[in-house]
Amino acid sequence: MTLTADDLRERTRKLLDEHDTADRSAFLQARFDAGLAWVHFPEGLGGLDAPRALQSVVDAELAAAGAPDNDPRRIGIGLGMAAPTILKFGNDEQRKRYLRPLWIGEEVWCQLFSEPGAGSDLAALGTRAVREGEDWVVTGQKVWTSSAHTARFAILVTRTDPDVPKHQGMTYFICDMHAPGVEVRPLRQITGEAEFNEVFLTGVRIPDANRLGEVGEGWKVAQTTLMNERVAIGGHAIPREGGMIGIAAKLWRERPELRTPELHDRLLRLWVRSEGVRLAGTRLRQQLAAGSPGPEGSGMKLAFSTLNQEISGLELELLGEEGLRYDDWTMRRPDKVDFTGREAGYRYLRAKGNSIEGGTSEVLRNIISERVLGLPSEPRVDKDVAWKDLPR
Ligand SMILES: Cc1cc2nc3c(=O)[nH]c(=O)nc-3n(C[C@H](O)[C@H](O)[C@H](O)COP(=O)(O)OP(=O)(O)OC[C@H]3O[C@@H](n4cnc5c(N)ncnc54)[C@H](O)[C@@H]3O)c2cc1C
Repeated sequence: MTLTADDLRERTRKLLDEHDTADRSAFLQARFDAGLAWVHFPEGLGGLDAPRALQSVVDAELAAAGAPDNDPRRIGIGLGMAAPTILKFGNDEQRKRYLRPLWIGEEVWCQLFSEPGAGSDLAALGTRAVREGEDWVVTGQKVWTSSAHTARFAILVTRTDPDVPKHQGMTYFICDMHAPGVEVRPLRQITGEAEFNEVFLTGVRIPDANRLGEVGEGWKVAQTTLMNERVAIGGHAIPREGGMIGIAAKLWRERPELRTPELHDRLLRLWVRSEGVRLAGTRLRQQLAAGSPGPEGSGMKLAFSTLNQEISGLELELLGEEGLRYDDWTMRRPDKVDFTGREAGYRYLRAKGNSIEGGTSEVLRNIISERVLGLPSEPRVDKDVAWKDLPR
């Protein structure tokens, strides 16, 4: 029987009647167990096998009741990237083990993909995993790993066969960040904070039971993660005039002395574009309700980062010298990402990372041109060359 919006509303009200919203952790656990965490997931794994679109019905009821949420800013990589990958490629045991603590925020996840020599060209990565009995032994270096300092687990892509072309010899694992041989060192960013890290993996033993997908098929698994990542970064539901444009519009209203006709025109243009992107995001989420994220997610991520950078730049221009004051350079290792937090100077600097993290704007434009517009693809001379023979 397919559940309807009314069924979901009724189940949500029952959850609210039976559980105290003041006890955040207990409430989140009860919500997961009631299948109201991500309604499109299978029963027993936080869902009800319901249409994905009905999640908004549950979210609206819970928000209206002031119920606690699971703070997606802190557990974004787990929710946005690890969970859909585990759901699609994990076995029953893995799904049961990881999804509940992930969703309730008990276990934070990070993403060990990028390497010093393999970012946009992810398939060029060189972190090796070699089979030894029931384990794999992993050695290599990852970089820009957000939240590695708070993470309990990581999604990890490795090279398991250097003798075949680069897309074929990769294997995907779940890595225990507390395992011997995992070393996390902070990397300070342009904002002064260290949201991300270098991660050194030296002889880290990962049981074969922690593999996601088949040996050598890590690229296929990673594609699921990356498609979901773009939607997770660029496709959030925000209210009209929410996010970065909301901050700029508020400043405009509250500080008439800062206004000039030229800035007025620019603000209006950015407002209209923000509204267009917000509505495109609504359409993307509706498409998602019908299936997996497609290349359109790349367009959303591109639009989100371009707009964030332009709006935060406008905010600085509006504020003049006042905007250049930076609030605090203390080295911090925050446990959540905050694109809109703190002062204008922070927002401006943090927005620089938006066009790099989760795929650079240049690479996303390539994806859009090839996979949405059907334009000829870039020449790929290394497609049929064994990874070990590629120049580095
Ligand atoms: C704030 C932040 C958080 C991050 N968090 C994580 C994380 O948690 N986990 C993780 O694994 N990674 C993370 N990253 C890394 C991020 O995914 C990579 O930095 C990104 O994929 C780019 O790779 P790169 O830095 O190696 O640059 P490169 O790939 O070397 O690119 C350098 C430049 O060349 C351009 N370029 C490269 N190839 C092409 C092409 N084919 N066509 C046109 N232009 C091209 C790029 O767009 C870029 O401008 C994070 C990055 C940032 C900034």
